[in-house]
Amino acid sequence: MTIAIIGAGIAGAACAQALAQQGKQVVVFDKGRTAGGRMSSKRTAAGYLDLGAQYFTARSSAFRLQCQQWLVNGVIAPWHAATAQYEDGSLIASPDNTLRYIGIPSMQAPVQQLLAGMDLRSNCRIDSIHFDGSHWQLYSEDQLQGSFAQLVLALPQQQAAQLLLPYVTQQPLTDTVLADLLYGDTALQPCLAANIELMQAVSVPFDAVFVKNDAAVSWLARQASKSGRAAAEHWLVHFNSDFSQQHLEAQPEQIAPLAAAELQRILGQPIAVKEALCHRWRYAQQAPGFAVPGFTYQAGLGLGLCGDWLNGGRVENAFLSGMSLAAAVAV
Ligand SMILES: Cc1cc2nc3c(=O)[nH]c(=O)nc-3n(C[C@H](O)[C@H](O)[C@H](O)COP(=O)(O)OP(=O)(O)OC[C@H]3O[C@@H](n4cnc5c(N)ncnc54)[C@H](O)[C@@H]3O)c2cc1C
Repeated sequence: MTIAIIGAGIAGAACAQALAQQGKQVVVFDKGRTAGGRMSSKRTAAGYLDLGAQYFTARSSAFRLQCQQWLVNGVIAPWHAATAQYEDGSLIASPDNTLRYIGIPSMQAPVQQLLAGMDLRSNCRIDSIHFDGSHWQLYSEDQLQGSFAQLVLALPQQQAAQLLLPYVTQQPLTDTVLADLLYGDTALQPCLAANIELMQAVSVPFDAVFVKNDAAVSWLARQASKSGRAAAEHWLVHFNSDFSQQHLEAQPEQIAPLAAAELQRILGQPIAVKEALCHRWRYAQQAPGFAVPGFTYQAGLGLGLCGDWLNGGRVENAFLSGMSLAAAVAV
């Protein structure tokens, strides 16, 4: 029996690896060119740029164990960032003991390692699924990609909801828990990101800034502080969820000057911009207060859902969600 997984982010990859270790046949589909999802760094002529997930922490023993393996294999490394906090116009150092990891040379490296040797169909957007009562048929551009007794959706809430929409009102998929999860409160909020390359280095003794209670920005980071990233002076600006929601449809040429102005304001220094690169994450990080069952699995339908949004957001929780679903599928 082959299991289909749609989504090769950290959740889908963790699920795929755990299932493969149990001897299951797995096929993973992803619309992206490579695996990684929101952990993907952008490859540019200057080097990798982290526009999505910035780092991850490991609090659970299961994820710590995985991080140890990745460290041994050289696909992650600690990020010893000098951190600061910006609030009410003041930028101050905020050193802490948090152990932060990054992928090496890019954020998606650990995801790719989880999927090494597996049947990964990249550049394949599944745009419809059909349940015939015992199997799931997956279609991309009207082409059948296969028929599977078990299906895992390792996707952001809104993307999983879109695929399952034709079924939620039908028997036997009328499951209130599933329907509430998919069509109830919004799990993931947007984030606008802008990478600003500067003509000259700024002299601040920080690599990353947690921006608190700000009208626009939530985070700044210097790309060159991370091993494997572009060496020149690139600063990443993340706008907060409220600002991102309000400006979600703005064009890059509108966002770039705003990001540069915010960078200058927070760093408190004049900057000269060489180039800007903007990215719109429609489904980025967990909305506060969203209920978290961890994962969902309906054995009768052979349908499971995993992902960060079902487990509290963040890389570690996405990984754990995928692992937990794999354990449930195996029973
Ligand atoms: C801007 C930003 C900053 C973040 N910062 C941090 C951070 O610092 N620390 C942290 O721990 N977490 C951070 N996160 C959150 C973290 O990136 C996520 O929690 C985690 O990567 C989610 O993994 P996932 O596998 O659940 O989903 P995803 O990574 O979203 O994976 C889903 C995959 O499904 C694919 N897909 C979607 N639809 C289809 C389809 N129809 N057919 C085929 N494939 C499809 C996508 O291409 C994607 O690869 C951040 C996220 C963003 C966006």
